[in-house]
This record gives sequence, C-alpha cells and structure tokens, in this order.
Amino acid sequence: MSTQEATQKKRTRKMAGAQTPLFTALLIDGELVAGQGCVEPILNPATGEVLTQIAEASTEQVEAAILAANRAFAGWSRTTPQQRSNLLLEIANVIEKNADLLARLEAMNCGKPLHLARQDDLNATVDVFRFFAGAVRCQTGQLSGEYLPGYTSMVRRDPIGVVASIAPWNYPIMMAAWKIAPALAAGNTLVFKPSEHTPLSILALAPALAEILPRGVINIICGGGEGVGSHLVSHPKIRMVSLTGDIVTGQKILQAASKTLKRTHLELGGKAPVIVCNDADIQAVVEGVRTYGYYNAGQDCTAACRIYAQAGIHDRLVAELGAAVSSLRFAGKRDADNEIGPLISTRQRDRVASFVERALGQPHIERVTGAAVHSGAGFYYQPTLLAGCKQSDEIVQREVFGPVVTVTRFDELEQAVDWANDSEYGLASSVWTQNLDKAMQVAARLQYGCTWINSHFMLVSEMPHGGLKRSGYGKDLSSDSLQDYSVVRHIMARHGQEL
Ligand code: NAD
Repeated sequence: MSTQEATQKKRTRKMAGAQTPLFTALLIDGELVAGQGCVEPILNPATGEVLTQIAEASTEQVEAAILAANRAFAGWSRTTPQQRSNLLLEIANVIEKNADLLARLEAMNCGKPLHLARQDDLNATVDVFRFFAGAVRCQTGQLSGEYLPGYTSMVRRDPIGVVASIAPWNYPIMMAAWKIAPALAAGNTLVFKPSEHTPLSILALAPALAEILPRGVINIICGGGEGVGSHLVSHPKIRMVSLTGDIVTGQKILQAASKTLKRTHLELGGKAPVIVCNDADIQAVVEGVRTYGYYNAGQDCTAACRIYAQAGIHDRLVAELGAAVSSLRFAGKRDADNEIGPLISTRQRDRVASFVERALGQPHIERVTGAAVHSGAGFYYQPTLLAGCKQSDEIVQREVFGPVVTVTRFDELEQAVDWANDSEYGLASSVWTQNLDKAMQVAARLQYGCTWINSHFMLVSEMPHGGLKRSGYGKDLSSDSLQDYSVVRHIMARHGQEL
C-alpha cells in the first residue's frame, strides 16, 4: 500500500470529526488503490460545482476485482452465519459512528438536503445491515426426511458465488446497503459498482470495509455502465448480477448474463398509481402526495406520481394539492428549510423538462403549478402538478423520475383499477379510502409489488421490496432477499440396511 493510501485509511478511522474529506480510492483485493481508467468529474448537483475527480477502474482492475472476489469466496462461503452476522454488525456500527460524514457526502454528491440524508438515508442504511445480521441467523427451511426408504433427504441453502452489484444514483449509500448486506450475509463475495455520478459515500466507507472484512470479500470499483459495468456483467466468473436501475439497463444486463446463464436480480423503474376515492381523507392525501410524490425530487422508483382521483373529490384535491405543492421549499440557503433537492444532472433535469413540455403541448393537460426549470444555480426543477391528464398520455405512461405528478379523473373505481394496472411498471401503488373493505379489494387487484393503504412510500427492512412486470423481479430487504442471494440444494444420504 502506498503512503498516500495508508494515510487515507488512517484518516477514515477518524473521519467523523474531519471536514468532509473526499475519498477517491477504489477497493480491490483488500487494498485501497487509485483507479487507472478514465478520470471523471464528480459534481454537486445543488451548485453544479466539481467536487473532485475520480479515476475509474481500468480493464485490468475490473479483472483483478473479480478474481479477488472469486478467491475470497472459498473462505467466506464457509464462515458461519454467526461470524458473518458479527461482521455485518461491525459495519453497521462504523456507518452509525460516521453517519454525519457519510450524510454530508451524500448531500454533497446528490444535492439532497443534509438533514434528510442524515435522518432518512443513513438511519435506514444502518438498519439494513443490522436487519441482515439478525436475519441470517434465523433462517428456517424444509423438513429433512426419508422420502425414499433407506435415504434421508435434506435441503441446504448455499451462497451463489461472486455477485456483481450495480447501483443507481438516487440513494447511493442506502442502495449499496440493500445490495451488499444480503449478499454478504448469504455468504457471497462481491464486486460493487456505484453509479458513476455518486461514488463518494461508498468510497468513504471502503477503508472501513477493508479493515472489517477478509481480503477480497468486497471490492468496490467505479466506472460508467457501458465500460466498467458491461465488463463486469459479462465476466464468466460472475455468477449473479444484481441491478437497481433503468429498464433498458436491465435488458442489457439480461442479454449479457444469458451468455453464461448468470442469475439476475433486477429492481427497475416504477410509475406508482395513487387511487383516491371520493371518501378519502383529503388532508391525508394532500400531505401524503406532497411528501411522497416529490421526496428526493421525485427521483424515486416508488414516487406517488400518477394520481387517479374520483370525480367527487377531484376538483378539491387538485386545488388543495396544487397549493400544497407550490409551498414545497427547495434551493434555499439554510439546509433545514429545504424539503427537496435538485435533479442529479443537467441531463436528467432536461429530460424532466422535455416530458413536461410535451405534456403541456396537449390541449387537455392543465398546469396547476411548477413546470419550469428553476432559475438559480444547480439542477433544480420546480415541483410540478399537471391535471386533466388522460390514461394514454405519455406523461401518465412513462417514468419521469423527477418532481412531476399527474392527476387523472375517474368515475367508477373499476375504471381506476384498470388504468392503474394498465402500465408496463409494477413496483408500487396506493389506494386512499376510509372504507377498509374497498381498500382491501383494490389492494388485492393491483398488479404491483407493494400496495399501501392510506399511505405511500413506507419501507421497512423486514418487508420485501421489488416489482412485477418491467419493474423487474427479485426482492430487496426482508428474508426474501436472503433467498434471492442463495441457492437451494438437495443432499441425499443413503443409509444402507435398516437397523
Ligand atoms: P441506470 O440504469 O442508468 O444506471 C444504474 C446503474 O447501472 C449505474 O451504476 C450504471 O452505471 C449501470 N449501468 C448502466 N448501463 C450498464 C450496462 N450496460 N451494464 C452494466 N451496468 C450498467 O439508472 P439510474 O439512472 O442510475 O437510476 C434511475 C433508474 O433506477 C430509474 O429507472 C429508477 O426507477 C430505477 N430505480 C429503481 C429502484 C427499485 O427499487 N426498483 C430503486 C432506485 C432506482
């Protein structure tokens, strides 16, 4: 290890008190090393300023990371659940101890309000490691038994091998936790690639991971999707690819994975329907959509972005929600005042703007509030509410991934359920009514990985999160995720003669 790397490693242990140090070293085979590939600027989307430059992994470094994970697998896969659990708890403790710094990095790199990154993203990240540390010690399974006379059958659940984990930019450290914790708990080794936009928080954690985990068990490499990402997912030693990202990326990964029949775990986009019945508590709906339609500037695959409002409540909802959305605070000088941040890049902001522009080109769509790029610094877009939208409109059908919510009027509930299900996406949904029978019937018919009743967006580590249809498959969080990162095996022992 070079002196520079050693200094960086030492600094990490004290990172809580430091003034937002930026970590740029990759983690390969237990060593912190500078990338040897292209150098890319890392931006703060709230200001547009360049925070640092990070060199991506070279082809040789991607190869070295995969081979290191492959070597480490033999030892790590034979550790006991208790041993792995203890190390996951250590990781959780380090994250908790350094949560202020990690939140600062997350806020800088994503432009998020710092107080939200600290309170939401970091607390959830710690909890995910603690949950999997517990879950891996409490697994249950099928009964062993004699299904043929003279033979005892038993079922094992074993790790898969080296997992390539590829994360998006919307919740960088939390997405890393969703991917790393269950994969390690189940006994796999990993090569983790953060989004090329948001590597700072996981790189800050890399030195601690290098200290806690045996060499090669986790490797962290930076780089873009087409270069480093596609090299990773097409490598024959990678046995499973786990992606949270766009549908198109999922399709590319499936193509690459098919060559060597890798397992895949795909968490793709979403376009969550929000069915609001005449008898809904309108104040709760307004507060819920104001918060969870726009949280993280709408860059959330579960965002409450596609409202179906019944005729009797529609006009009041549009008026009250419009007023509430226009009061959302952003881009202010004082962090504590801000409720949402910017989009991740000018590209993403321009993409959102072009969706809204095309929508407003339709004579039936009405701008209730927003619908413009924010004039100050940073990649902000005004929180936007559009009413009068029709089911066939692009803005209703496609994922915008920005602070844009649409409202579509319906008369009969049957119609709203059909429209809600008429989507290529199938991740999250909600229904709002004070009639629980109605809510349960609608929930049973919605083709979504999750349906909230009189709520939206709430996730807990104990419950599975994942989609249907083009939102992908595989579950994050919960013990279902441990199953996705492991494989069932049958062991059959012949006893010979009966006693
Ligand atoms: P993206 O698909 O562009 O990138 C995701 C990751 O995939 C990045 O690390 C990227 O470098 C990598 N990648 C891109 N092309 C690749 C390739 N050919 N081979 C290997 N890796 C490749 O997505 P994004 O823009 O970072 O994130 C936004 C998307 O993620 C949205 O569609 C959103 O809905 C989705 N998302 C889904 C969930 C969920 O839980 N279902 C959660 C968060 C985000």
